[in-house]
Parts: sequence; structure tokens; C-alpha cells
Amino acid sequence: MTGPRRLGDDPAADPRRLIPRTDALLAAFSDAARVHGTATVKAAIVAAQQRARAGEIAPSDVASEVAAALPTGPRRVINATGVVVHTNLGRAPLSPAARAAVDAASGTTDVEFDLATGARARRGRSALAALASAVPDAGGVHVVNNNAAALLLCALAFAAGREIVISRGELVEIGDGFRIPELLRSAGARLHEVGTTNRVHLHDYADAVGPSTGFILKVHPSNFQVTGFTSTVDIVALKSLGVPVVVDIGSGLLAPHPLLPDEPDAATALRAGADLVTASGDKLLGGPQAGLLLGDADLVERLRRHPAARALRVDKLTLAALEATLRGPLPPVRQALEASVDSLFDRACVLAAEVPGAEAVYCVAAVGGGGAPGVELPSAAVSLPVEYAESLRLGEIAVVGRIERGRCLLDLRTVLPSDDELLLRAVLG
Ligand SMILES: *Cc1c(COP(=O)(O)O)cnc(C)c1O
Repeated sequence: MTGPRRLGDDPAADPRRLIPRTDALLAAFSDAARVHGTATVKAAIVAAQQRARAGEIAPSDVASEVAAALPTGPRRVINATGVVVHTNLGRAPLSPAARAAVDAASGTTDVEFDLATGARARRGRSALAALASAVPDAGGVHVVNNNAAALLLCALAFAAGREIVISRGELVEIGDGFRIPELLRSAGARLHEVGTTNRVHLHDYADAVGPSTGFILKVHPSNFQVTGFTSTVDIVALKSLGVPVVVDIGSGLLAPHPLLPDEPDAATALRAGADLVTASGDKLLGGPQAGLLLGDADLVERLRRHPAARALRVDKLTLAALEATLRGPLPPVRQALEASVDSLFDRACVLAAEVPGAEAVYCVAAVGGGGAPGVELPSAAVSLPVEYAESLRLGEIAVVGRIERGRCLLDLRTVLPSDDELLLRAVLG
């Protein structure tokens, strides 16, 4: 590359005269100025012009230098990994109804105000009502920041300075190095571990329960499986021990799902006698990040009034998205889970026909770290030469697929049908 010439070489050909003017650049970046503010855009323009004047970049590169200097924010990504609940990609994509609700709530809203009386009202009451009607077996419901916060609040309210009885087979590391046992201990609770990695019996729990027991905790091993010589104790049996039973079901299924027979759900756990159920809002429920607390009305009220509840409370946007997810049509996560493999293969054929070197293939998708570790979901993908993986990730519309046997697979189970056209555009570059 030949750099711009220096001042004094030839005044007639002074390349600085080719540097785009500030007003022209401001006009070109008017959309960006609306998003980032004029001051930010102007600062980026001035800095790029200075670099051009100093001969560090060519005048023709000033605009792209400005664009590169602007803050990017989170990028939209098409999840073609085949992992339905992908934590690194933001877990559940919100439904159109939830997005609209977030938009409506993003200004000032009646999150904590009764428009009929003009008085203060219970925060998020309509979202809580939606949750209560979705889980009629729960006497009380509450929502916090995430499932980890729900567990923390239970430990703070019912087991600080006391014991939580938990099976050694349920001491789960949930991701990014965070561990449920350490989370519980951070609340000042002592863990009374019972059983072994593979087997625990009712008498193990019975021996552990005593005057210092806060509650028995059952945690769903949502991201691993222990098979073979195993035994666990069900909620009905634990309930017989006369102390509160808290059940962390993990993924947020509110009722049994026919495709996931081994995944625990809130209604079944409550009917079996769980005093409290905790769950995530952004796994199989398909909503925003949230922690659901469902169960005995008095216990839920104690959680709600605990001082830490204020530190763990959810934003108005979360409440809006949660309510819309609960009341609205099937969210994208559930559509992805339930799509027939034939419909996925048909879509793969249509897409593959447009791309040289592509073919439609059958493959296997997964629910993800959010639940159902042993479940294989039959799926279909557009199979591309492996070189596509990087260019698709870095493209204007970022697409993340998965590499399998030397090919880049775009698994359509996790791509909404309405995104097929966008996906094709990204592949065609
Ligand atoms: C995912 C998960 C958690 C943590 O939930 P977050 O909503 O991510 O805080 C806790 N327990 C179980 C069993 C989980 O699967």
C-alpha cells in the first residue's frame, strides 16, 4: 500500500484535501449519531481525520476508520449450532410478543402503580398473576434475577447459620466455574452432604435431618448424567421427613413435556410435595433471564420480604417479557424443540439448493446445558465446506454453526423458519 504523500511534496496534490469534511461525515453517520450520540460520533470523526492528516491512514479509509471506532454493542447472532438453549448465545431468544412487551415497558410503565386508583401497587403483579395461573399448584410465586438468585434467597432466608441437606450426586457445577454448593455456602448455610456420587437412600437423608436443618434441597443434574448403579430419593419420600423440601428443577418446565419425559417440571414437583420449586426463566420456559420461585404461600412471602430480595429483584423489562412469554404463543425455544425433523429437512433442502457445495443432511441436535442432558433431538442441517465456519461468524449477519466431521453444519432446529432468508443471505455473502 502506498501511503498518502506528505505536506510539501506537491501542494497541488495535497492528499489532505481528499480527507472527507466533518459535516459530510456527520451526515453519513447520522444513524449512528442517533444511537451513540453526536458527541461520540464527532470524536470518532475528528480522531480519524487526524490520523489521515498525519498520514497514518489514507483519506479514503477515514469513513471505515470512524465506523470501526464506534461502539458496537451486542451483535445479533443466528444460532445454527443445534443447541437449543445455548448459554453463550444468550439462551432463550424472546418471542415476538415478549419483544413487543419489552418495548412497551421500556419507557415509564405501571410496573408498580395502579392506574385505576392512582396508588402504589405490588411490583410486577400482572407478571406474577400470569405465573400463578400457569402453575395452579403453587400457593405463592415470586420472581428474582435468575435461578442462582432464587437458590441464594432460599439459603439466606431458611438456612443461614443452619444446614441444607443435599445428596452428593447433586452437587452441581452450573457453568463458568460457578458451583451450587459454593453459592449456598456463601449465604452462610452449612451443607450436610448425604449419600455417594451414584447412590443415595431415604435413610441417608433421615439420619442427616435434625434440629439445625433448614431444608432438604434436591437439585436436578441438568447438565450431566450418571448412569448404571444409581439411586435417588423422590420428593414424596423426602416430604415424609418433616422438614421443608426445596427442589431446583433447573430448566423451567412448568408442566410435563412429552418430548422430555425425564426432565422435571414445576407442577409435578409441587404435587409430589415440594414446598418450594426454583427454576430458570430463560431455559426451556423460553423467556427472559429470571429465577422463578413457586410453592407454599407463607414461605414465598418470607422470601419476598427478606432484605436480600430487594438486591435480587428483577427489572421491569424482565417482568414484561416473562408475562408475555407466559401468556403468549409458543416461544422460539419450544418451537425449536417441537419442530418435526421432516420440516427441518425440507428447509435444509430448499436452502442447500441455493448454495454451491452445500447439501442437506440429517443430524442430531441437543437441548443444551439448560436441561435434558441425555436427549438427542433428530435434526437436519445445511452442510457446508468447513471454511464457512469462520466467515459466517465474522459476517455482517453473524451465524454460528457447528463443525462435525470436517464440515460446517448449520443446524436448522435452532434457526427460526422466519430467519431462513437471512441465513441464506449470510451464506451467500
Ligand atoms: C441452570 C441451572 C441453575 C442456574 O440457573 P440460572 O438461571 O442460570 O442462574 C441452577 N440449577 C440448575 C439445576 C440449573 O440447571
